[in-house]
Amino acid sequence: MKRFHPWIFSGAVHHIEGEPEEGEVVRVFTADGSFIAVGHWQIGSIAVRVLDFEDRNIDADYWVERLKVAVDMRRSIGLFGRSDNDTYRLVHGEGDCLPGLVVDVYGKTAVMQAHSVGMHMSRHDIAAAIVAATGGMVENVYYKSETTLPFKADLGQENGFILGGSDENIAIENGLKFHIDWLRGQKTGFFVDQRDNRSLLEQYSKGRSVLNMFCYTGGFSVYAMRGGAKLVHSVDSSAKAIDLTNNNIALNFPGDNRHKAFAEDAFKYLDAMGGNYDLIILDPPAFAKHRDALRQALKGYARLNAKAFEKIKPGGILFTFSCSQVVSKDHFRTAVFTAAAQSGRRVRILHQLHQPADHPINIYHPEGEYLKGLVLYVE
Ligand code: SAH
Repeated sequence: MKRFHPWIFSGAVHHIEGEPEEGEVVRVFTADGSFIAVGHWQIGSIAVRVLDFEDRNIDADYWVERLKVAVDMRRSIGLFGRSDNDTYRLVHGEGDCLPGLVVDVYGKTAVMQAHSVGMHMSRHDIAAAIVAATGGMVENVYYKSETTLPFKADLGQENGFILGGSDENIAIENGLKFHIDWLRGQKTGFFVDQRDNRSLLEQYSKGRSVLNMFCYTGGFSVYAMRGGAKLVHSVDSSAKAIDLTNNNIALNFPGDNRHKAFAEDAFKYLDAMGGNYDLIILDPPAFAKHRDALRQALKGYARLNAKAFEKIKPGGILFTFSCSQVVSKDHFRTAVFTAAAQSGRRVRILHQLHQPADHPINIYHPEGEYLKGLVLYVE
């Protein structure tokens, strides 16, 4: 705690005064009675998620203050109040010293997810604080915690607007338009965390034949189109993702026939495809959600990447990612190394990629690092 890690494990608690309910604000003291932290009480291996290391009241003013800090940070990194980009993460949990809370902004609508009962309890104050702290730039707050709250809490939570309401669901990322399906889409409806990596991809797209594997909403595909790709093929096993991708391509490049999308399993597609792609993106879902699954996950990454190395055109460029938190940068690099060695090709690392600045890592909470990627030149 003296090193400001935001979690207190249940085994570290000697005794509890009173009978706190899950989600309640509690104060933590040392044995000799000095204050350590104030945070949300949880039932489980993490007993307290720390909000503050100063003794503060956790009230409406507190949320406004913390949300203002989050807005100021986005302003200082050039993400707040831009006309060519109104899509960004406003709150990244522990990374913004707000453990258990995620807020993504799409234009005038914020999509908020609580991962803890404490954040759920304060959802109305937090929603009001988002509107106040953004000076009204955000008018609507959609609450989407049906699947993120601990199921045992049994809060009967339904997704829906808790402030305002809007059907206007086109967001702008680096001047490109995207339909955001916050109702039915994965997470908050869009993967905001690939924004910078998509921009980098755009720079490499000119004249290339691009395969965007695991395309979801087609983020990388739309950037590749703007970057001047010769052709772009998007693949995802979900038919719904293919619809989303086709819609986003049509929204930005109506009538442009360089793009095609296929609803197919990644491994099947990679096995059957020819060797014509010279720019391949592999951005799979998290292969390991828990530490126990790590070994299997590393095998999965190696197997997937091996297929790309086998088929990519000489002189091709591979963008490969892992968003599993338990897979470290080194683990991932070793898995990709294994795949490269298997193919016997000469491979160089051009870029090492990570999550963008609006997904900051609290220096006291290294677990917050999750997205990593490599850009490789394959001779
Ligand atoms: N690259 C995307 C995010 C990918 S999310 C972006 O920039 O937004 C992972 C996607 O992989 C999901 O859309 C999911 O439907 C898809 N997926 C999961 N398993 C798959 C498989 N075996 N084959 C193809 N796609 C798969």
